[in-house]
Amino acid sequence: MERGVQTGFQRAWRGLVDLAYPPLCILCREPVADPDSLCPACWSELQFIDGPVCVRCGLPFEIDAGPGTACGACIADPPHFDRARAILRYDDASKKPVLALKHADRLDLVPAFAKWLDRAGRELLAGADMIVPVPLHRMRLWKRRYNQSAELARAMARRSGLPLEPLVLERVKPTPSQGTMPSAAARRKNVAGAFRVPADLRAGLKGRRVLLIDDVLTTGATASASARALKRAGAASVFVLALARVVRA
Ligand SMILES: [Zn+2]
Repeated sequence: MERGVQTGFQRAWRGLVDLAYPPLCILCREPVADPDSLCPACWSELQFIDGPVCVRCGLPFEIDAGPGTACGACIADPPHFDRARAILRYDDASKKPVLALKHADRLDLVPAFAKWLDRAGRELLAGADMIVPVPLHRMRLWKRRYNQSAELARAMARRSGLPLEPLVLERVKPTPSQGTMPSAAARRKNVAGAFRVPADLRAGLKGRRVLLIDDVLTTGATASASARALKRAGAASVFVLALARVVRA
């Protein structure tokens, strides 16, 4: 709830709750002023991507080459998605919370992450008709019990009012983790043909603009393979919004 629309009662109630359970930094558990936020020390450790980026894949640029500039990789071999953006650089500091959400049941991190995704992805959200998470294969979902990207997507749908369509994209190949692949070519091969849109959901995808939610963009191969499947099934455009992105020097 935004502060501006809180009623006096809600403010008073929030005050009482904060007295009983003061909000804590989502990472280090130090007391903080606002719920679902970071303490200044944790905040300063994370590298938020807020400067000039590749218009296509969101890769941060060292120098501002002007609006509409794409990186070398996107010019040489354009990905299937139209645009991708991420909030954080994937490094030792951001790895902790990102992996905690993925493997350690830290679903309490979702509201804070959704708030950041909302802010960073405002433009992408405005141009989307539906929110779709990057799916896990059902075997992996069974092992992990939840899909971190689906949890983020659900929170984003709730915040934005856009419909959540978690079944539109299906992972039909139980691919090994992209992190274990030795090269970009291996990552691409790994996810080739891994995604599909079920035949009975294709009609609902025709001409629609999809916002795909992922946790980490490594080379963008997974996002690109997902976007390819969505577009082949009729999606007009695919935007990608991720928590973190690998930035190679
Ligand atoms: Zn790029």
